[in-house]
Amino acid sequence: MEDIRGKVNKLETFGLVDGPGVRYVIFVQGCAMRCQYCHNPDTWEGTEGIMEFTPAQMYEKAKRYKTYWKDNGGITISGGEALLQLDFVREVFKLAKKDGVHTALDTSGNPFRNEPKYLEKFKELMDVTDLFILDIKEMDEERHKKLTGCTNKNILELAKFLSENNKKMWIRHVLVPGITDQQDDLEQLRDFLAELKTIQRVEILPYHTLGVVKWKTLGKEYPLDGVRTPTDEEVKRAEEILNVRQYPDCPYNND
Ligand code: SF4
Repeated sequence: MEDIRGKVNKLETFGLVDGPGVRYVIFVQGCAMRCQYCHNPDTWEGTEGIMEFTPAQMYEKAKRYKTYWKDNGGITISGGEALLQLDFVREVFKLAKKDGVHTALDTSGNPFRNEPKYLEKFKELMDVTDLFILDIKEMDEERHKKLTGCTNKNILELAKFLSENNKKMWIRHVLVPGITDQQDDLEQLRDFLAELKTIQRVEILPYHTLGVVKWKTLGKEYPLDGVRTPTDEEVKRAEEILNVRQYPDCPYNND
């Protein structure tokens, strides 16, 4: 395992949104999706602007912040796409679990394959991951392909697989007016989520344009130019359709 080197785009020492409590968040480099609203296009390529760490170096760096984590915080690995560096993530999480640290994986699910060889490796990762934070960007296959350049079949399979294996999940859906807020799609998503047994939280993330400047810096044309952010009412409507409050860990349950 000594030759595993994680490619990392950036580190956040005091994350408050990517998992419970205070998190040390590791944003790894590389993603095969091309979401039109991506606010981290600088993470796409496998080599640009990266730091490299062995799993032990990464964990030692994170552990310096352990006092902030208290009972429920810990380490989150996000991206880019964390599953593209499955071996690195697994080894960092193994070290964390030895110390009783909570581990969360934030993923688009795109690399997941429902195939025996892949599942064998994935199960080892699952064993040391306390929480999966999974983005479901679109239920409709064609709209998903248009939005991300990729199928959603394996992503939905991952959600089912995690549920069958009793792994806790937070589900996130980015709400883009006129693109990911269609009634039929949201209803399909609600019905799909209702079949899963281990969801703790469902969050609507309002689309924002903070990443546009990165597209421009990288010389890329921003595909959603002119698309506005959703209103509070639109976000509330989507939350109602998805029944977000029915999930036990939903942040709005104590309003
Ligand atoms: S999966 Fe995430 S990192 Fe990859 S393109 Fe989509 S939003 Fe960007």
